[in-house]
Amino acid sequence: MSRPVRVRFAPSPTGPLHIGGVRTALFNYLFAKKNKGTFYLRIEDTDQNRFVPGAEEYILEALEWLGIAPDETVGKNEKFGPYKQSERKELYQQYADILINSGNAYYAFDSADDLDKVRKECEEQGKTFIYNHTNRTQLNNSLVLTEEETKAKLASGADYVIRFKTPTDETLHLKDIIRGDVKFETNLLDDKVLFKSDGMPTYHLANIVDDHLMETSHVIRGEEWLPSMPLHVLLYRAFGWEAPEFAHLPLILKPIGNGKLSKRDGDKLGFPVFPLEWTTAEGTSSGYREKGFSPEAVVNFLALLGWNDGTEKELFSLEELAESFDLKRVHKAGAKFDPEKNKWFNHQYLIHKSDADLAQEFKLIVAEKTGAIENLAIEKLTKIVSLIKERANFVSEFWELSDYFFEAPTNYEEKAKKNWKEETPVLMQELITILEGIDDFTSLHIETLVKDWMTKNEIGMGKIMQPFRLSLVGALKGPHLFDIVELIGKQETITRLQKAINTL
Ligand code: GLU
Repeated sequence: MSRPVRVRFAPSPTGPLHIGGVRTALFNYLFAKKNKGTFYLRIEDTDQNRFVPGAEEYILEALEWLGIAPDETVGKNEKFGPYKQSERKELYQQYADILINSGNAYYAFDSADDLDKVRKECEEQGKTFIYNHTNRTQLNNSLVLTEEETKAKLASGADYVIRFKTPTDETLHLKDIIRGDVKFETNLLDDKVLFKSDGMPTYHLANIVDDHLMETSHVIRGEEWLPSMPLHVLLYRAFGWEAPEFAHLPLILKPIGNGKLSKRDGDKLGFPVFPLEWTTAEGTSSGYREKGFSPEAVVNFLALLGWNDGTEKELFSLEELAESFDLKRVHKAGAKFDPEKNKWFNHQYLIHKSDADLAQEFKLIVAEKTGAIENLAIEKLTKIVSLIKERANFVSEFWELSDYFFEAPTNYEEKAKKNWKEETPVLMQELITILEGIDDFTSLHIETLVKDWMTKNEIGMGKIMQPFRLSLVGALKGPHLFDIVELIGKQETITRLQKAINTL
């Protein structure tokens, strides 16, 4: 009988959440929603040396911003709480003891210096040292010591660790939902440390105990954890627990070159690798939120990093993703991160937003640039947005695309000036007269009258349209000219034409 789906995202709060971690969270979320299951967030903070203040809050804030908040976590539906491993500390010792008592684990008393010595000796012989079946009986542990000796050492307060006694001579045939059959030789594994005398479990023990107690049905995590899979499966076996199913997600690769996407790639190529901005004493790392990406766009491009629905479809809402998501369609090979494509996704979401909503966002920028707050008519902003948004990836680009709607050009683009010919001033002066006579100052009407005048006098298009545009915009860019004219208004249009006649 298959168990109810319960999946988790289990980050260690060691800094801001990398975009790869966000994708892991997203795939867990989608899998849970698809299967009417539960998605929970567990904070794996047993390594106190690597704890970074603020990181835990950051993780939750990032998931909330993306719209993929967990169903259960610290302070929320704590059905299997606590959800923070440092608050579950007391629990792990008893599970370490169970493994000791069943002969699946042992105490090791080797000091760091002792192990360094053996490591060096191995290196001199061209071998790498791993603590396992080949040498465990020559080292300082409870497999070698008598029961009394071990007891005495423990009683004397000696430092120890508890290591897993990896079974020998076994080939493990395991199943990964994404990778299919995977094979591991137990003889090649080391006897991993599970617990330390400071009372803290290591990642491996805490992770397995919690996944079991929190009734995790599927472990969906990054490929970097694949080498831990045999140990984890062996631990479930040693405890006599049913193991969850496993799925290891492909790496996210650098946009250029080989290897895993790193923060440095982002710094070099100018894109964020974090969902939210993160500031430390060393500086600030940019975030998708602060860069102006919409959360829907970020979710969409992350979902397609290593997954597709089998068709050419690229635009998915979160609900559509949850509907179509299938772990079996996740690729094995790494997924190349494409910052340009990310902008494309943002563009798609931007143009589908309503002009009125975008105008509200843009209003803040315009107010800041022009200092004018009261007289910013939202209808005008909405119209401007409708004219320029096709050309933008972000709201922050709107100003550059539309500043001439708000301010007269202070200079004229050099290479466009060649369109200003000798006869231009006279023609522009006549144009002013035409414009002065127009009462219904709307785009189509102005266009009709201006074109009538041109036809009647046999004036070529280029002779009027380009200098006209240059006068209003300062360059030969922008949307339909008569839309600009209408929005700028009669008086301002004439003033700008007059100024161009005087300066050009
Ligand atoms: N705490 C681990 C991490 O930082 C969790 C790995 C897992 O999902 O098992 O990614």
